[in-house]
Amino acid sequence: MTRAQGRTHGHGRVARFVGLRTFAGASLLLVAACSGPRDGSRDAAKGSVARDTSADSAFADSVLRAAEDIGASVTEVESVEPAPLRDPDAIRNALRAYAGGTYIGELFAARDSTNYRWPDRAPLRVWIQRSALDGFTETHRTIVRDAFDPWIATGIPVGFDFTDDSSRARVLVTWIDRYESRTTGRTRWVHDQHGWIVGAGIELALAQPDGRPVDGASMQAIARHEIGHLLGLDHTADESNIMSANVRVPELSEADRNTVRLVYKLPPGSLRAP
Ligand SMILES: [Zn+2]
Repeated sequence: MTRAQGRTHGHGRVARFVGLRTFAGASLLLVAACSGPRDGSRDAAKGSVARDTSADSAFADSVLRAAEDIGASVTEVESVEPAPLRDPDAIRNALRAYAGGTYIGELFAARDSTNYRWPDRAPLRVWIQRSALDGFTETHRTIVRDAFDPWIATGIPVGFDFTDDSSRARVLVTWIDRYESRTTGRTRWVHDQHGWIVGAGIELALAQPDGRPVDGASMQAIARHEIGHLLGLDHTADESNIMSANVRVPELSEADRNTVRLVYKLPPGSLRAP
């Protein structure tokens, strides 16, 4: 596996996760978005991939646009998670039964048919930073906490617990005032040798690149989008989904819910037929 230097952030805690898959974030208010090419993102640092687009669809008087920023590399860590059960018949049957109404095909096309997901486990501890940045309020933390709810409600076997102790957290949410690129959030995660996701960081910007604050509704949508990445989802072309690279909706769609449920019905790792 190619290793490359991941981008670093000022945050020591998040820097621990540098060197992994980096996912996108959302940006909004007619800020041009990036496309979300996933091919090859596991191989090496790609640099920022940006593509200007113009659009005028509205949500909360805004156009939310997600940005894909695949800049970091992938690091696979050894972990003590058990190897997944891999029953080709069960995989085939699950795909046959549940792939309808999902965008799982897009996901696997972008990842060489590899599934990444958290193990079934006791709730994951999530730490949401209290930032000293200008413009940060406790409401920002509440928004992020609430953004987990619709994902939890899908019934996937992953729960979340919130902690004030970052050293005990598997998921770290931190804040940045803004990005220079057209991004307002990003998610990165570490996977192990089996494809289990074993750690993740979400970074959210308080303001857009031009300095305007990200409003609450947009922050909520962006946080939901990033949490979808956190769970192992990728972008889909259909903009009625929260996981569209252009985030135009505030809520999870049925396809978002069905796709994450299917991801968690499947084992991690390659799903190619042996
Ligand atoms: Zn994204």
